[in-house]
Amino acid sequence: MGAISLKGVGKVYDGGITAVRAVDLQIGDGEFVVFVGPSGCGKSTLLRMIAGLEAITTGEVQIGGKRVNELPARDRDIAMVFQSYALYPQMTVRENISFALELRNLPKSEIVARVDEAARILDLAGLLDRKPAQLSGGQRQRVAMGRAIVRHPKAFLLDEPLSNLDAKLRVQLRAELGRLHERLGVTTIHVTHDQVEAMTLGSRVAVFSEGRLMQYDTPRALYHSPANLFVASFIGSPAMNLIAAIWADGGVRIGPLLLDVRPRDKARTPGPGTPVILGVRPEHLRWLPPGSDGTIPARVELVERLEPESYVMAMPTCSDLRVLGPEDTAAGSGSGKGVPLILRCPADELPTPKAEISVLPDPGRAHLFDPFSGEVI
Ligand code: ADP
Repeated sequence: MGAISLKGVGKVYDGGITAVRAVDLQIGDGEFVVFVGPSGCGKSTLLRMIAGLEAITTGEVQIGGKRVNELPARDRDIAMVFQSYALYPQMTVRENISFALELRNLPKSEIVARVDEAARILDLAGLLDRKPAQLSGGQRQRVAMGRAIVRHPKAFLLDEPLSNLDAKLRVQLRAELGRLHERLGVTTIHVTHDQVEAMTLGSRVAVFSEGRLMQYDTPRALYHSPANLFVASFIGSPAMNLIAAIWADGGVRIGPLLLDVRPRDKARTPGPGTPVILGVRPEHLRWLPPGSDGTIPARVELVERLEPESYVMAMPTCSDLRVLGPEDTAAGSGSGKGVPLILRCPADELPTPKAEISVLPDPGRAHLFDPFSGEVI
């Protein structure tokens, strides 16, 4: 049984750096979960605590229903794959893959059978007699996976295993990892800073910021129902537009517009006049000819042509409407003069640069956030 459970898990390094803060997380047996967040948010530290490579300061880690806090890494029955692959350069591929099994004194025939099986699954059969230096980056990554697979562990812990590969290979190996998981059905935690990797691989994704778990949900829920401003801005590219707004009776006021946006949680409806942040994804903004009723007047700054969809950056021209940039989202108010709105539009329906347009948000797809706590309303 490879279920993994974290209860109040925290880490303070020598010197007082708090890397992980009271994380609660349940990973089902056979689930593929991704830990994602910006560099330094504590995701590798958390993975290493689960692996037994880092002492746990507070809380409890359970694997297969048993507390493992005091158990050394080698007794936890998990296999870790590192970004650097950590292959032994003097050993052949076969020796690299079988090494851990030799240490465990498994019968020779069993070792050969497991290595051959892994080689077949990972398409390494023709490479077993080569040394790591004679392999491409993608092949080395497969050898590292092979070494993990042959141990038949309760769980795989993957620490940025695709980061050293070029973009094309990364996409290919990402798909292979997904297929491998479907085939083996082993509990997997995959750490990455790449949100596309997280969204494509994880059945559930845990988003971290500054050592805190910000949301743990399916990729779809993270995208469509972010729990807070951090997740709203981190997941999705280009990022969600965030607009300074005021809660008014019956909706949200942004500049000249009153939009019929409903709070997700009715109990949290703010009082009239309360500042809020309105979040709208680029695909939920449309543009219309200038002067259209009930819209935001704006001037096109840039048209980024991509197929089949393009991006339009348009700066609001009404003085009382401000789109928040990264530096002013945290507290909801900042000194910056604001950033343009970003619209995702079909490539055959684009305005011309410098044109005056009207921007229409879809109120049914908009999100509301508390500018002080950052939580969704
Ligand atoms: P991530 O994997 O998300 O990039 P890490 O878990 O590596 O983040 O690091 C989280 C925080 O802990 C960072 O502030 C980092 O500088 C700090 N940190 C990581 N390893 C150590 C260590 N061995 N000693 C002290 N601080 C560390």
